[in-house]
Amino acid sequence: MKPQIIAMDSPDRVGDFACAELRKYLDRSDSDSAAPAKIELFIQQNALNLPSGESPLDGFMLEWAMSSLRIVAARPKGLLNGIYGLIELLGCRFPFPGIERCPEKLDWVNARKSCNENTWNIPSFNHRILHFDNMRLTPEMIDWIGKLRINMIQQPLHVFVKDIGAKLELANMLQDRGIELNVGCHGFDNWLPPKRYAADHPEWYATCHAARRGEFHEANDEKLPAEFATGQLCLSNRKMIAEFSENVISFFREHPEVRTISLWPNDAAGGWCTCRDCLALEPDPDRLDPQTGSPSRSASYLGFIGQVGKIVHAEIHDARIEFAAFSDFSTPPLNTRVVPQEDYFLGFLVDDFFGCLFHGHGESWNRDRIETSHRKWRALFPGEIYAIGYYADLCKVMDIPIVFTTKIRADMAYLKDEIGINSINTLVVCANLDYLLNFSFVNLYSYAALAWNHLRSSESLLNELAAAICPAQRDSVYRYLSTWDQLGESNPDKHGGWVWIEPDEQAKKDSPWSSVIHFLRAGDLIDAATVTKLETFLSKARTHTADDLIAQKILERMSNAFLVFKKMHAFDPDAPVEQRTTDIKQIRELVTPRVFPGGTMALLEKWENPT
Ligand SMILES: [Zn+2]
Repeated sequence: MKPQIIAMDSPDRVGDFACAELRKYLDRSDSDSAAPAKIELFIQQNALNLPSGESPLDGFMLEWAMSSLRIVAARPKGLLNGIYGLIELLGCRFPFPGIERCPEKLDWVNARKSCNENTWNIPSFNHRILHFDNMRLTPEMIDWIGKLRINMIQQPLHVFVKDIGAKLELANMLQDRGIELNVGCHGFDNWLPPKRYAADHPEWYATCHAARRGEFHEANDEKLPAEFATGQLCLSNRKMIAEFSENVISFFREHPEVRTISLWPNDAAGGWCTCRDCLALEPDPDRLDPQTGSPSRSASYLGFIGQVGKIVHAEIHDARIEFAAFSDFSTPPLNTRVVPQEDYFLGFLVDDFFGCLFHGHGESWNRDRIETSHRKWRALFPGEIYAIGYYADLCKVMDIPIVFTTKIRADMAYLKDEIGINSINTLVVCANLDYLLNFSFVNLYSYAALAWNHLRSSESLLNELAAAICPAQRDSVYRYLSTWDQLGESNPDKHGGWVWIEPDEQAKKDSPWSSVIHFLRAGDLIDAATVTKLETFLSKARTHTADDLIAQKILERMSNAFLVFKKMHAFDPDAPVEQRTTDIKQIRELVTPRVFPGGTMALLEKWENPT
């Protein structure tokens, strides 16, 4: 007997998709006497059974009766999460984008036994966000992150317009899965392109902005994205604010699939307007932000956000507007009345490079900085706040295959339980290099699982993933993954493993990324004996699972990625030129840059053309 699916009264798009997903997985398995006769999908809008203070949002509950199962949720996205939760209980696993592992016969007996019956399954964080910086999304990636219960994707405006914004298939896939879009990120110039305005209105830009001197670039020029423009806007100019807001409104109208925009200043901040009216926006223009040591501009910035928010929200009632706190606007302003209070705002906190895997938010040496910003913001802003991590940002750390589940977990526990942050985000900058994604998918898997339940142990998480990758050799895979995990834990450096190597003067001139590419090499973290150990675990798993095609596929990707790491680790820049050329050629064959070169490619180029 196959269960009959009974959907709620008036399903929407996500509800329809949830039904179809359930049907798809049930149809793959033969009839089974242990299966319930019917599965009801039930929306309980106000979810009254919840303990006070808990919001159901994307949560779900499985209610089993003698011969039926009811999946209850507060909204359709919760139903979809519940369906994926059920499918996992039945034995299906989604370890890697585009790869899934389902048993021939769904295990209804075990599903019912191991299910936490009649208890709400509530996510730890309201929004579980992935920030795709320069990566182009693929259908298999979207399908995967839907199964990982991610509910928001963030993209810079200049990336979005060429990626999801221009590809109906991807936008549809996101909408089916109830994954919201958050577009904007760094770059005032993206919303107010100097190419269009600077000739007539140079006064709309900050005093130091190149537009004031008649120099400007295409806003969407990938070589120089507007997010890195050297100057901000003249935030005291009312006509500028009106036009800026109109452009935001037009964007919302052109892209009804987007309901959240993030309005962050240009990256690395600085470049604020120094006209008299702008300086008057700051209660104390000379007050230094402890994060950067430069004059704080949080009052000017938030005043601007508040005005844009008011204009936009009057036209687009369901718009959500995100403001940021980082760099020289990381601490709240003296005049706290400019801090947004309405619930259409979303707060975003970042500690610049201090939220990466090597600089855990909650680590003791980092706490003073965090305490001076995050806790104050939490007290001042009543709405939803998320923090961002660099959990899959391998572009910056070069050749390090990170599996630091323990660090992600510690960050989340600190942010949620101690500070009261209610949403979470991570950068996925790494993924522009295919081979790096083959490492960092573990981090993304861990991130998503922990964002759903931040109290899970890393051991149980990595065990679950190892079993999904390779059931027959789960122990070897687990030991491979957890060895990386332990490396992050045991590094003796007081900064948690970070080794800062100052770029030399020539490197700074050669590349704007030079301060990035010198960050950390795997060789700083790992010795030859550990490399051998890691290699043994991986090759053992590969050798003993030749008949398991899913395991072979994932393990081959992991092995190739590991090989790149090994070769880069062993590379000797002082070796004879023939040797160097051969070594670099071998690495290049394994490394495919998807969109933009990133740190690894920059290093290879440097090795090829030593000065
Ligand atoms: Zn100004």
